[in-house]
Amino acid sequence: MSDIAIIGAGLGGLTAALALQRQGWRVRVYEQAPVLGEVGAGLSLSPGAGRGLASLGVGPALLDASLPVPDIAFVHYRTGERLAGALSPDKAPDRGFDTARHIHRADLHAILLAAVRTQDSDAVQTGKRLERVEQGASHVVAHFADGEASEAELLIGADGARSAVRRAVFDDTPPAFAGQIAYRCLIPFEQAAPHLGGVGAMVSIGAGRIFNRYLIRRGALLNVIGIVQSDVWPEEGWNTPATVAEFARAFEGFHQSVLGLIGCAPTGHLIKWGLFVRPPIATWRAGRVALLGDAAHPILPFLGLGGALAIEDGIVLARALTEVGGFEPAFAAFERARLDRVETVRIQSIRQGEIVQAGDPDRAGVGGSPSQNTTLFDYDPCTAPLAVHG
Ligand SMILES: Cc1cc2nc3c(=O)[nH]c(=O)nc-3n(C[C@H](O)[C@H](O)[C@H](O)COP(=O)(O)OP(=O)(O)OC[C@H]3O[C@@H](n4cnc5c(N)ncnc54)[C@H](O)[C@@H]3O)c2cc1C
Repeated sequence: MSDIAIIGAGLGGLTAALALQRQGWRVRVYEQAPVLGEVGAGLSLSPGAGRGLASLGVGPALLDASLPVPDIAFVHYRTGERLAGALSPDKAPDRGFDTARHIHRADLHAILLAAVRTQDSDAVQTGKRLERVEQGASHVVAHFADGEASEAELLIGADGARSAVRRAVFDDTPPAFAGQIAYRCLIPFEQAAPHLGGVGAMVSIGAGRIFNRYLIRRGALLNVIGIVQSDVWPEEGWNTPATVAEFARAFEGFHQSVLGLIGCAPTGHLIKWGLFVRPPIATWRAGRVALLGDAAHPILPFLGLGGALAIEDGIVLARALTEVGGFEPAFAAFERARLDRVETVRIQSIRQGEIVQAGDPDRAGVGGSPSQNTTLFDYDPCTAPLAVHG
């Protein structure tokens, strides 16, 4: 029997596993996928999440695999004219984790996985799709689709926005389509360069549509995300292959630099995601089970902070279980430490989406005020207060 079973080897699950291992806990991570990996897309890592991960010993690897986020210009969708922010050359001064960083999701995932396996080579088990959770007085049992079961003292649901743990223990309301579709792909730099005008990172904003681009992998790849409002999500799953023609149709009327990039989207590697949300739930803990990351609080991606929240959760939860005596007070301290932070980011992400997809792209305030951004992006999970009593 392990001390702690973690369901889901995504960013939140692996961060929690590593943070707990480093405090001496025996952890098992159960991942449904037969092969571990991440989608082919970029991720922006907030300074606070970066510092949190650095405290777990992966700082040098992360710095090596990522690029500092430069000042980013918001431009008019049709004219390409700058509306807010700054047009920066691709190489921003590198101030480590004092700034946000852009990274390939697969690279971040691989760094975390290697660190967890270095602590314990058997820590992560694949092909384990959780179906059911059974709680006893002194333990909890995870039942998997392959018919096997595993016991642990505690169980953490880090299984993403469609969490089976959440469904089994907390709330079986299905996620709701948020009225937004995201198109995502990676374009080799050589193909993208003629459309960039020497500026890698930029956000084009128009009514109901936003097109975001930035460089990853030492500038070898351009990450592209286009998000459009839509009444319906007609597909079966959350992410499905998309065609260049439908991507271009969705961004009709945008500046030629955007349409030129869409034309470079690699066939077969262009995906579209329906964005789904769920209303907040009152608690993320029930007996010996707790939720973290998207399983507890999926948010819209307009501030690029969902992954950061999952990372922060993992670190604060490990601190709580280590510093606070008894699992119930520890889970309570974790929840108390995180609820306000998560709710602030959730609301600000909705607001940011409203601003950047507003009917009038000339309106000011894109990106929020600098003081808001400092609070939102600099939250440090290593030093955030952890009150034992509410
Ligand atoms: C378009 C878009 C862009 C985004 N950009 C950013 C960004 O730039 N920066 C940022 O910080 N965030 C971003 N996010 C948000 C971020 O991707 C998520 O918030 C983050 O991945 C959540 O991590 P997680 O570990 O909670 O869940 P996930 O990453 O979803 O991991 C969950 C894991 O659990 C596994 N799992 C699921 N069900 C089961 C089961 N029944 N049994 C076992 N395993 C299971 C899954 O296979 C998966 O490996 C973006 C999101 C979207 C949609």
